[in-house]
Amino acid sequence: MTEHTLTVAGVAVDTRHWIGGERVASTETFPDVSPIDGSVLGEISRGTAMEATAAVAAAKAAFPAWAATPRAERARILHAIADGVEKRLEELAIVETTDNGALLRSHRRGVMPRVAHNFRFFADWLLKLEHEDFETRGHTNHVSWDPAGPCVLITPWNAPLMLATWKVAPALAAGNTVVLKPAEWTPLTASLLADIAAEAGLPAGVLNVVQGYGSEIGDALTSHPDVRRISFTGSVPTAKRISASAAANLTPLSLELGGKSPLLVFADADLDLAVDLAVEQYDNAGQVCLAATRFLVQESVAEEFTRRFVEKAGQLTQGDPRDEATDIGPNIHPRQLEKIDGFVQRAIAAGARVVIGGHRGDGQYYAPTLLTDVAQDSEIVQEEVFGPVLTLQTFADEDEAVRLANDTRFGLAATVATGDPERAERVTAQLVAGTVWTNCFFVRDLQAPFGGSRHSGVGREGGTWSFDFYCDLKNTVTAPKGWQSHE
Ligand code: NAD
Repeated sequence: MTEHTLTVAGVAVDTRHWIGGERVASTETFPDVSPIDGSVLGEISRGTAMEATAAVAAAKAAFPAWAATPRAERARILHAIADGVEKRLEELAIVETTDNGALLRSHRRGVMPRVAHNFRFFADWLLKLEHEDFETRGHTNHVSWDPAGPCVLITPWNAPLMLATWKVAPALAAGNTVVLKPAEWTPLTASLLADIAAEAGLPAGVLNVVQGYGSEIGDALTSHPDVRRISFTGSVPTAKRISASAAANLTPLSLELGGKSPLLVFADADLDLAVDLAVEQYDNAGQVCLAATRFLVQESVAEEFTRRFVEKAGQLTQGDPRDEATDIGPNIHPRQLEKIDGFVQRAIAAGARVVIGGHRGDGQYYAPTLLTDVAQDSEIVQEEVFGPVLTLQTFADEDEAVRLANDTRFGLAATVATGDPERAERVTAQLVAGTVWTNCFFVRDLQAPFGGSRHSGVGREGGTWSFDFYCDLKNTVTAPKGWQSHE
């Protein structure tokens, strides 16, 4: 144990950056606070432009050798990282829960296995990545995915390691080197990932982790001329700042942003299923980008839907996320809680009716809330709350349902509950969304394109789309033997 280590449930976490295969401390620190009880877990190195620049330099220096490493060897190391994640799964789960307040049982059974899968999936996908050669007047066209260079990956706090590795894994698989900047509210599992990657044999400088406030070090990372790709998951205002900063070097960007996704419930839907899907929207205390926070329910079933929803939501247990019985944990930060309550109180003042909740709970908890009598152009319908706050509106027919669903500036996801497959097809075709779920929610396959339309994002990642983003695609045209240019 050193002055640069903190412990969470007996797990030691290094509080420094990881640059060029070495731990590097900053002179200043910032406190990392647990949302469960407000306790300070420790002091984390507070990065400056100096550490950001050093991390990019380390990534640049490590790039040629990693890019030249055969695909099979890169894949082997990614699988070794996945092994390390699985070996330390319990530790990662408890550290993440303590740091961000999401349910321990979800981290154990869903999220951390998924983190390991991120590495395995992109390692395997790399090995089968190919495009069939094609011919042009006897010439062969060969498409290759060339490593692009150092990548800056910037991630949020709501699913820290899951969202970080969903970028780190394909970036490394592609033969790139990485500077990861985790969110300042959840710095811990990124530090553990650095340890795991080093133990797995990832060469020094291939993965670097810089801790700190985005507002203080973001610019140094995103405006750096040696950075070849920036992948960001977070809010729209930050995305705009990053885009402006990246514009100086025309650095390609992938942006995964917020949402205000609808759940459309038609009268012909299985209402119990629709209610199950609806209650799921309180997962992670509503801090899920994909959450269907706007219920759009056909008038004829709205009353019954609401009755069953209230009954089911009433069975949810809110409390310590480390308890197996808990369904909803705390929100991440007092500032986030204030933001959530601000949205709700302004909505109520504007005429919204509280069906359930509508107020803070004890500590850092917010009562699961459903508001109705909300206008389509009101703030609560148009803006992302990122807390356990849902709205319910009704519609008369399919046309109105689609119009309301599409009438925000976002386009991340949509969920449709209907018993009529033809309706599902018609409605889905008209929805503006990166992902549409029909009679299900949150089924995600890493092969699928993932991203948002409009203000929900720019670009798609997943499967080959990830490699398309993280690589420089090259077409090599080879003349047939003996070909003469005048032919
Ligand atoms: P945020 O934009 O405040 O912060 C995200 C990251 O950006 C953090 O690491 C932060 O330090 C960094 N950052 C802040 N200012 C920066 C700057 N000027 N330059 C570079 N980096 C900077 O977002 P948040 O509050 O952490 O996350 C919540 C948001 O993320 C919500 O809008 C949510 O919908 C979105 N989100 C989207 C997805 C998706 O896949 N579409 C997934 C999860 C979360």
